[in-house]
Amino acid sequence: MLMQSLQMVDLKRQYHKIKSEIDTAILNVVESTAFINGPDVQHFSTELATYLGVKHVIPCANGTDALQIALMALGLQPGDEVITTSYTYIATVEVIALLRLTPVFVDVDADTFTMNIASMRKAITPRTKAIMPVHLYGQSVNMEPLLKIAAEHKIPVVEDNAQAIGGTYTFSDGTVKKTGSMGIIGCTSFFPSKNLGGYGDGGAIFTNDDTLAEKLRMIANHGQKIRYYHEMVGCNSRLDTIQAAVLRIKLRHLDDYCKARRTAADYYDKAFSAHPGITTPFRAPYAYHVFHQYTLQLRLNGVTRDEMQQKLAERKVPSMIYYPVPCHKQNMLKEYATGNVALPVTDMLQDCVISLPMHTELTEEELAYITGCILEIAG
Ligand SMILES: *Cc1c(COP(=O)(O)O)cnc(C)c1O
Repeated sequence: MLMQSLQMVDLKRQYHKIKSEIDTAILNVVESTAFINGPDVQHFSTELATYLGVKHVIPCANGTDALQIALMALGLQPGDEVITTSYTYIATVEVIALLRLTPVFVDVDADTFTMNIASMRKAITPRTKAIMPVHLYGQSVNMEPLLKIAAEHKIPVVEDNAQAIGGTYTFSDGTVKKTGSMGIIGCTSFFPSKNLGGYGDGGAIFTNDDTLAEKLRMIANHGQKIRYYHEMVGCNSRLDTIQAAVLRIKLRHLDDYCKARRTAADYYDKAFSAHPGITTPFRAPYAYHVFHQYTLQLRLNGVTRDEMQQKLAERKVPSMIYYPVPCHKQNMLKEYATGNVALPVTDMLQDCVISLPMHTELTEEELAYITGCILEIAG
């Protein structure tokens, strides 16, 4: 048996390794009482911009706001179509619907779980006004062909990078870019369990476009540039100074955190490689996968996915289904008749995926226990 109880994400052990730095940073903010827009917010934005290789980072309150503000800044009109995948967290699609835009779902590839580029091309109509690829589970969408098609049709690309910060994409000429830095706008979340997580909510928007950056900043701040002079309808979306102070410290560890996730993924891959009923995550040659989730596809004789989950739980191994209902089947989106769209790969994956504990603190002992339990149950 294990010393510590297993969790999907272990934030406590991670915190204890950097506790003195974090505690000092948080106390400094409290002492300064600069809770809103304190110096750490600007410093963090600049440091993150450097890390990502983008010109502007606009911090905001959470990843959902980041996506909403991005779409607002593009000036889309009700009824405009936005192409995305159904295989994502609801936030991606919710903001489209919230702004009275029309979500248009395309299928994913069965190996990468990310947007199928040929389907995306076919879904383009004269009303398509944005494409939102989602770098799901920590792996970049195949951006080179996507960006090429989008450019041909002059459609802006907004990357949902909430799950893949620290990941990269390699273009055919060898250029390497960070996920979130390739579209006209990139968005991320600093929700605690994300790869760069704060100690509360947070998010950010990235762009290289000066005009858009100014607009994004204004929208996040009640549509004002000069205080109390409101040019457009916006919202109130800020990153707390305490979150920025924590994130500045964690950003310095992000590359190591990505490596730790990849090391855990390597261990899992190896353990499951010989089992014919277990498909390990595919690593696309163009992507540096940062494993926000480690997600298997199960096709086992004699044990269903539900039974697997239950038997794992009996052995104190947590697991999760991301996501039990894909977006196109959510009641929220009924009025768009999204349930009628055919997304066979999304549906197929939904029935067989299972995500295992994945974080920066997994030990070999824990990985051995988890993989041992799964192989024993799988038979
Ligand atoms: C987490 C997440 C979001 C939303 O981020 P919040 O900070 O929780 O609002 C959006 N898209 C994806 C793919 C996510 O995983």
